[in-house]
Amino acid sequence: MGRLYIQYLSGEKIYKCKFCKVDSASRVDIVSKDFRGRYGRAYLMRNVVNISIGPKEQRHLSSGLHTVNDIYCSSCQQLLGWRYEKAFEESEKYKEGNYILEKERVLKDGW
Ligand SMILES: [Zn+2]
Repeated sequence: MGRLYIQYLSGEKIYKCKFCKVDSASRVDIVSKDFRGRYGRAYLMRNVVNISIGPKEQRHLSSGLHTVNDIYCSSCQQLLGWRYEKAFEESEKYKEGNYILEKERVLKDGW
């Protein structure tokens, strides 16, 4: 394995991994706060950094069948949410390429 590259986000309102405190996402990338993950409330994000992406799998979510990849903090390997690879319903297509970030697994830094 190569040296771990940690990306730092600019801006004041940053979510960090709760476990190892590396930057995970910026508030400006929130698409919606009204989502549910495995651990309760979750954010739909345009971008999440410092993650590794798990294998593709098909999952039945409350909004129908999706192809998703779980996302893990690249620094501590904790599960942070998932990425929408593909949605099958036309009305859900906007989620493709976006991420679910579990509120329970991140901290707000500096706000
Ligand atoms: Zn972490």
